[in-house]
Amino acid sequence: MTAPGHHTGSPARCDTCRALCCRLTVVLEPGDTVPAHLTARLDNGPRVMARGRNGWCVAMDQDRWNCGIYADRPAVCRRFVMNGPYCRAIREQDAQPDQAPAVETP
Ligand code: SF4
Repeated sequence: MTAPGHHTGSPARCDTCRALCCRLTVVLEPGDTVPAHLTARLDNGPRVMARGRNGWCVAMDQDRWNCGIYADRPAVCRRFVMNGPYCRAIREQDAQPDQAPAVETP
């Protein structure tokens, strides 16, 4: 499976989304009901979504490029706004030619 291409400069679309947000650290909150085997604890304490060796959240379905636990995804993932300021910022950062890619192709 290869990651869909870059699409910065235009609004993110579900069919071309590279799920860059699913490589960010996802801190779990009280009330989140994520299965424990999908989580990890950082050295400094907070419980987070575990990430695989390629950097993506382990709940990411990389065949379909979407969340494998969508109905039970953490609160912080529910609040993340597609095409919002944070979405645009990480997509623009990833597209910078003078930076190492923020995302490896699995
Ligand atoms: S729980 Fe789902 S939406 Fe949240 S980072 Fe993981 S794959 Fe992405």
